[in-house]
Amino acid sequence: MTDMLEVQDKVLQTYGEDVFSEREIRRYLPKSTAAKLIATMRDGKPMDASIADVVAHGMKEWALAKGATHFTHWFQPLTGGTAEKHDAFLEPAGVALAVHKFSGKNLIGGETDASSFPSGGLRSTFEARGYTAWDPTSPAFIKRHENGATLCIPTAFCAYTGAALDMKTPLLRSIQAVKRATERLMEKFGKGKAHVEITLGAEQEYFLIDREFYLKRPDLLQTGRTVFGAAPAKHQQLDDHYFGSIRPRILKFMTEVEQRLWKLGIPAKTRHNEVAPAQFELAPMFEDLNLAVDHNMLVMETLRQCAESNGLVCLLHEKPFEGVNGSGKHCNWSIAYDGKNLLSPGESPRDNAIFLTFLSAIIRAIDLHADILRMSTAGAGNDHRLGANEAPPAIISIFLGDELSAVMREIETGHKEEGAKNKAKGMKIGVDTLPPLPRDTTDRNRTSPFAFTGNKFEFRAPGSSQNCAASQMVLNTIVAESIDAICDKLDALGGDFNEELQKLLQRLIRKHKRVLFSGDGYGADWPKEAAKRGLPNLRSTPEAIAPLKDPVNIALFSKYGVLTEGEMASRHEIAQEDYESRILIEGKVTLEIARSMIRPVVADEFSRLATAIGQAKKDGLKVGLRGLGALSQKLGAGLDDLHVKCEKMDKALESPNRPEVIIDAMQDLRRTVDRLELLVDDTRWPLPKYRQMLFIY
Ligand code: ADP
Ligand code: MG
Repeated sequence: MTDMLEVQDKVLQTYGEDVFSEREIRRYLPKSTAAKLIATMRDGKPMDASIADVVAHGMKEWALAKGATHFTHWFQPLTGGTAEKHDAFLEPAGVALAVHKFSGKNLIGGETDASSFPSGGLRSTFEARGYTAWDPTSPAFIKRHENGATLCIPTAFCAYTGAALDMKTPLLRSIQAVKRATERLMEKFGKGKAHVEITLGAEQEYFLIDREFYLKRPDLLQTGRTVFGAAPAKHQQLDDHYFGSIRPRILKFMTEVEQRLWKLGIPAKTRHNEVAPAQFELAPMFEDLNLAVDHNMLVMETLRQCAESNGLVCLLHEKPFEGVNGSGKHCNWSIAYDGKNLLSPGESPRDNAIFLTFLSAIIRAIDLHADILRMSTAGAGNDHRLGANEAPPAIISIFLGDELSAVMREIETGHKEEGAKNKAKGMKIGVDTLPPLPRDTTDRNRTSPFAFTGNKFEFRAPGSSQNCAASQMVLNTIVAESIDAICDKLDALGGDFNEELQKLLQRLIRKHKRVLFSGDGYGADWPKEAAKRGLPNLRSTPEAIAPLKDPVNIALFSKYGVLTEGEMASRHEIAQEDYESRILIEGKVTLEIARSMIRPVVADEFSRLATAIGQAKKDGLKVGLRGLGALSQKLGAGLDDLHVKCEKMDKALESPNRPEVIIDAMQDLRRTVDRLELLVDDTRWPLPKYRQMLFIY
C-alpha cells in the first residue's frame, strides 16, 4: 500500500520536472524578472529584451542542476520534423580551465546555417544564414539521454529577410489573428478585454511492430510504409483489436512513454488499442495551441525513442499497411475567452447568441476556405488515407450532430422543427436558450472530416506524421477572417442587436449550409452530392497544394500577416518537391525489392520446379506432374509478369516529375508481387509478411 502511494506521489512530483515552468522560473529568477517572463508566457506580452541576460543566467543554473551540459534552439523547419544543434555551456577560461556560459544573446537568438533546410526559394544561395528566435510562450525544457541532458529552447526559424522558414512562425501569427478577431466580436456582445486562448488536443495514432521485422523490410526502413504485402486472412474484420485489452509488452512501452511525457509536462491522458491490428492511440489533455503543437512534436519523438528501447518500431506514417486503417491525428480545436469555452453552448440566451455566432463564423470559414484547409493536410502519406474509406474523404465538410443541425435549420427558416418543444417561431438568438445538446461520441461519426463534438471541433483529416501547426495555422486564419467579416456586418447595421444578429446568421447559414453534411462520408454518393453542392474534392497532393497559389488565399493570408505571397509560394514549392521526392524514393525501393529480393526467389523456385518436372518425366512418374505443371505455369506466368512490371517501373522512374506515372507502376508491381507471395514457399519469401508484422509483437 505504501509502495503504491509512493509511486503515485512520485508521478505528481515528477510531473513537469524537466520544464522551466513558472515554479522553476520563480525559484531561479529574481522576483521582478520572473514576473515579466511569466506575463509574457501567459499573455504573450512583448518580451522585455533587457531581462534576457538575467533570464539566461537563471535558466542556465536550472539546466545545470538538471544535469544538462548543452543547450540548443529547438525549432520546426519545413521538413515536417524538429531540428536542434547543440552547443556546450562549457567555455575555456585559461589553460585547462573552463566555465559554464549562457548569455541573453544565446537565449534570444541563434544564427544557423540554413542552407540544407528547405526554403522553397526564399533563401537565396548567397545568403545561407538562418536565424532562430526564442519563443518565450513555450517554456524551455530538458531532453535527457543516457549520458546527460540538453536544455531545449523552443524557437521560431526564419531567413535573414525575416521570411518564415518554419511551422511555428505562421502559427504564432495566426494565433494573434484569431485572438484579435475574437476580442473584437466579444466586444460586440458587450464583453471587455479578457484573456483569449486557442486550445488544441491532438490525438496521436501510431503503429508498433517488432524491430526484427522492421529491419528486414527495406521499404519500411526507407519510406515508412510497406510497398508490398498480401492481405492476411484476418486483419481488422472482427473489430477485436479496437479498445481491446492492451498486451503487457505494449503497456510497458506506453507506461515508459507516459512517464517521459509527464516529466516534460505533457498531459498524456488516454491510451488504447486502435482499429487496425498493431495500431494504438495516445491522447493528451488539450492545452494552449502553441504549446500543444510543440508537445505533439515531442510526443512523436518520445514514441519513436521508447519503441526503440523496447525492441519495437513506432510507425507514424499515415498508411504503413495496405488494407487496414491508416493513422490520423485528430486535432481538437476550440477558443476560450476568459477561461470559458466559447464553443460550449451556454445556459443563458446571451451565451447562446455568442456560441451560435462563433459557430456560424466557423461554418462560413470552412465553406469559403475548404480548399486551403484541405491543403494543410496534403502529403504523400496522407493521400493514401483521405478518401480511402477509413478516414474522412478529401472533401471538407462539417458534421454538427442532429440537435445542432436542427437548431441551425430553425435559425435559417425561422420556423420550429417538427417535434421541437413548444417554440412558436423557431430558435430566437439572444432570447431562447439552446436545447441541451448531447455530447457526440466521436466514433459514431468518424466519416466527417470536421466534426462538432459537443464543445470543440475535431479536424480529422490531418495525418499521423504531420505537424499540427499546418492545419491549425490555416484554421485560425480562416476563422479570424470570418469573425471579422461578421463584425464588419454588425458594424454596418443599426437597430436591435439581437434581431440584426438573427438576420445576419440566417443569411450566413443559408449561404454556407452546403458545407454541412451529416451523412456517411465514406458513401459512394457523397462525392457526387458534394460535386453538386460545389464543394472541392482535392484528392492528391498536387491538387491539394494548388490553393497556395490562389490569389484569394494569398490575399487572405497576407491580410492577416500569417504568410506573405512569397512564403506561400515557397511552401508550395517545398510541398511539391517533398511529394515528388517521396514518390520517387518509393518507386526506387519498390523496383529494388522486386528485382533483387523477390525475383531471385521466384526464379529459383521456378527453376527447381522445372528440374523436378524434368526429373519426374525422366523417371516416368505417373503422379505429381499435374500439380508441378500447374504450379510452374503459375509461377512462370508470375515471373514473366514480374519482368514486365519491373520494366514498366524502370521506365516510370525516368520521369521523376510525373509522380502519377510512378504511383501507377508501383500499384501494378505490387499486385504482381502480392500474388506471388501467396504462391512461393513461405520459408523462402524474403520479406516479413503482414500476418507476422501486424500480429507478432
Ligand atoms: P472524444 O472522445 O469525443 O474525442 P475526448 O474528451 O476524448 O473526446 O477529447 C478528445 C481530445 O479533445 C482530447 O485531447 C481532449 O483534451 C480534447 N479536447 C477536449 N476539450 C477541448 C477543447 N475545449 N479544446 C480543444 N481540445 C479539447
Ligand atoms: Mg476522439
